[in-house]
Amino acid sequence: MRHFSEYLDYIDSRRSIIRELLIDWANINSFSYNASGLHKMLNVLENAFRPFNYQIEKIELGFHQPLDSAENSEKLCLGRALRIRKRVTAKPQVFLCCHMDTVFPPSHPFQKCTHLDDNRIQGPGVTDAKGGLLVMLEALEAFERSPWADELGWEVLINPDEEIGSPGSKLLLEEAARTNDIGLIFEPSLSDGNLVGPRKGSGNFTITVKGRAAHAGREPDIGRNAINALADFVVQLNSLPPGAVGLTLNVGYIEGGGPVNVVPDMAICRFNVRVSNSEDQQLFEDHLELVKARINQIDGISIESRGEFSRPPKPLDNRTRKLLGHFAVIGRELGLSLESRFSGGSCDGNNLAAWGLPTVDSLGATGNGIHSSKEYVLIHSIAERAKLTALFMMKLADGAVSLA
Ligand SMILES: [Zn+2]
Repeated sequence: MRHFSEYLDYIDSRRSIIRELLIDWANINSFSYNASGLHKMLNVLENAFRPFNYQIEKIELGFHQPLDSAENSEKLCLGRALRIRKRVTAKPQVFLCCHMDTVFPPSHPFQKCTHLDDNRIQGPGVTDAKGGLLVMLEALEAFERSPWADELGWEVLINPDEEIGSPGSKLLLEEAARTNDIGLIFEPSLSDGNLVGPRKGSGNFTITVKGRAAHAGREPDIGRNAINALADFVVQLNSLPPGAVGLTLNVGYIEGGGPVNVVPDMAICRFNVRVSNSEDQQLFEDHLELVKARINQIDGISIESRGEFSRPPKPLDNRTRKLLGHFAVIGRELGLSLESRFSGGSCDGNNLAAWGLPTVDSLGATGNGIHSSKEYVLIHSIAERAKLTALFMMKLADGAVSLA
């Protein structure tokens, strides 16, 4: 440990710079569809990573067409991804990934950082995942200053679309899963500091029910009420098949109708579903088809669904279990007790694992209230977690940690 520690001390010397950078970065609005904010963030990050000076690419991700309501979908421009590679022919190759987008649009009142106390800074994305970007940057800076740097190659990918399911960066992630030996993702740790082991898979779906409009007083018998049919659908969908223990469903949006003297001919709902394994996913897909078929049998009513599981479930395979074990041991050397726990949340780590890359995906900052206006980060956790990743990389390069 001693010969590694002088390179870890570098991270401690950066604590006040880390605090300043975090506030600067979190004060830039980088909502997933805020093109100018993402552009600004990309330039800031490019400058921060420039000292590594090796194969920096800014990659266009094109457009995304999310489904908004029944038939409409708006074409929205995605930000660019930043990819940096160093020593592409070295072995092993480590993939480091973190997202720059956040969930708060520019119209949201939560835009700037405030100090809650000496160790807690509240602000949009401070933990998810701007703190994680800093953990990754500081870890690499320390590693690159160490004498073991030549023994290992790495690729950094910073994507601007993770919070919307990585529609544009998916291909880059898939490519990284093929060309690297392990994946490290800087999503937040759990709020108690522990790491995430298995993760649930997640899917978003939109349901459209069509009926027939009619005057509610003159000819109600001609009308076919789409809202009633959708309500039936929601109730039936919520009686989940027995045996799918890890399956959870949240109908999060509903829309339809207009004047109350008109029988509504259209109703829409959207829901999110989470599954622990592929068997539960299949059970749910069968359940959805069955409920749709029942609703379709109602006279004058038709129902359609759109959507998919964009994040497959992430059960732990042996290689990932071993990788988590290395982090637990290295954590102990740094005075951290790191257990791996199950999480219902999903991230790019789900997809990397499904493509066969052993991945630890909660190596970022520790904080609380992510995706809410109460989000805060424990600022000391950034240096602490940067040391964890830096020490892991040094030991991997040194041969003290083996992936075999
Ligand atoms: Zn995140």
